[in-house]
Amino acid sequence: MNERVLRLVDELFDNEGALISGRANIFYYSGFTSEDAMLFLTKDRCVILTDSRYTVQAKQQAAGFEVFIGRPADFLKEAGVRYIWYEDEEMTVSELSRLKAAAADSFFIPRQFDISKPRRVKDAEEIKRIAAAEALGDAAFSHILNFIRPGIKERDIALELEFFMRKNGASALSFETICASGVRSAMPHGTASEKIIESGELLTLDFGCVLDGYCSDMTRTVAVGNPGDRQREIYETVKSAQEAALCEIAPGKVCRDIDKAARDIIAGRGYGDCFGHGLGHSVGIEIHESPSLSPRSQDILEPGNVVTVEPGIYIEGFAGVRIEDLIVLTENGYRNLTSSDKELVIL
Ligand code: ZN
Ligand code: ZN
Repeated sequence: MNERVLRLVDELFDNEGALISGRANIFYYSGFTSEDAMLFLTKDRCVILTDSRYTVQAKQQAAGFEVFIGRPADFLKEAGVRYIWYEDEEMTVSELSRLKAAAADSFFIPRQFDISKPRRVKDAEEIKRIAAAEALGDAAFSHILNFIRPGIKERDIALELEFFMRKNGASALSFETICASGVRSAMPHGTASEKIIESGELLTLDFGCVLDGYCSDMTRTVAVGNPGDRQREIYETVKSAQEAALCEIAPGKVCRDIDKAARDIIAGRGYGDCFGHGLGHSVGIEIHESPSLSPRSQDILEPGNVVTVEPGIYIEGFAGVRIEDLIVLTENGYRNLTSSDKELVIL
């Protein structure tokens, strides 16, 4: 059994097992990358439940695991384990009822939090991979700065950015690329459209890639042609809000207080109603992990957390700005994994 599995099964009683069905936790505990699989872990067994398409892959990626080829329901029926932890956010109602019908003597206990909890603190290898993914994002951003000009479509910018990341090793995108210009930049999640970039507009790019199983995430807003005074003002406000939040970040701090540091700056300059989303989220195998830097989060930051800091101002019918860095909590503070410049770039 590997370290991660040992840590989890240490929390199980002898008559308990953990059934892991979410892609991210399967990868975290076993290294196995199939979507059609589950893991079953007890104090003395660690098993991959999958089908015959993955026999070879499971042996290669998850050394030390038994491989069961067949239906999870049949496996659980035979296993005879009394209490089964399962991921309630990663199981459909119909899957669960099928399993319950097969393993009629077992009790199924929703334990999503406990199964996912270790992923909140990243180890050195995970941090290395996230940093490499973020560095690829930085490289993609400097590449795209030479490509953006008035007259080009948002969609073409997004595609060029995505092609660069895939060409340089990314296995996938972390999420659908956000590329929003002019009035569209007021949509925090404006994915690339057919809109043509015009001179004098702000352009927000929020993008990430998956490298060696780990996600990156960054946002920069640039000006295409000379921006107006109000555009500059909201840019500088968001930049100051991010600086204020970064100054607060340290182990032991409460997540909502970091959010508040940024929010106070934005509200203080009269844009309180224009920042609707939380300040940040954790990033790892998945793009949205815990803890998050939200106005309500009472989580305490600890070394090894990897979180985004992404304040924004969005003014409907006018424009929007967001600046997002990815940082890792260290023993004394934090290290910024994003190195792209934050002075307003004018193209
Ligand atoms: Zn982002
Ligand atoms: Zn983000």
